[in-house]
Amino acid sequence: MSNKVILISIDGMRPDGLQQCGNPYVEELKKTSSYTFTAQTVLPSITLPCHLSMFHSVPPTRHGTPNNSYVTPVRPINGLFEVLKAAGKNCTMYYGWEPLRDIGRPGSLISAEYVNAYAFEHTDGVLTDRALDYIAKGHPDFVFLYMVETDEKGGHDSGWMTQKYLDCISCAINNVKKVIETVGDEYHVIVTADHGGHDRCHGTDMPEDTTIPMIFHGTSFKAGEELCGVSILDIAPTIVKIMGVSPEREWEGKPLI
Ligand SMILES: [Zn+2]
Repeated sequence: MSNKVILISIDGMRPDGLQQCGNPYVEELKKTSSYTFTAQTVLPSITLPCHLSMFHSVPPTRHGTPNNSYVTPVRPINGLFEVLKAAGKNCTMYYGWEPLRDIGRPGSLISAEYVNAYAFEHTDGVLTDRALDYIAKGHPDFVFLYMVETDEKGGHDSGWMTQKYLDCISCAINNVKKVIETVGDEYHVIVTADHGGHDRCHGTDMPEDTTIPMIFHGTSFKAGEELCGVSILDIAPTIVKIMGVSPEREWEGKPLI
């Protein structure tokens, strides 16, 4: 297997939602991947600060964005996109929530495509297909694929753990299946979430909001191994290690391989 990586973030996906969504591919992923259902995100459990922490391996107190309005950091820190770009890697992202543009600095990606959550009935599927089209043509080294519907149409519109929410997760997992089956051995695939949720919101320190699942698929990971003590800060260090790139000195997470 090559050292390329696809990172998939399914916004607002709770680990118990993933396990109860009814998609049989979840059991397949557990058999073929390393995984955890007890990973922890950062506080506050809000989309932009959590994704900035995922990409910069520091908590919001360090990157400085406390909510969904990006704050230009007083002491900037290089994130995953900047570190990979400096190492000569080609990165791209496909995303369904516009404020995520700020998780990488201008010029650190070779391309990016944003699609509004409500532009299509199944926006996540459209983003997945467009990402796969690009991968087939451009073979980028790192791809970030962000799926919006579980949070937006499932959690906020209908409520966390409602049938609609679980159906959104099942759709997202079908997209994950399509990605893994399409890219084969060319890419490692990491699947996670930024936060969970409860009722029709998130952002608190409740375990329902802060506990997230992670799945690590590819030859760098042991099939069927359950991981413990994992943080959202560990994602960027793990990805650069797979790709043979040194982490930024200030990153606080640990590689999981
Ligand atoms: Zn979110």
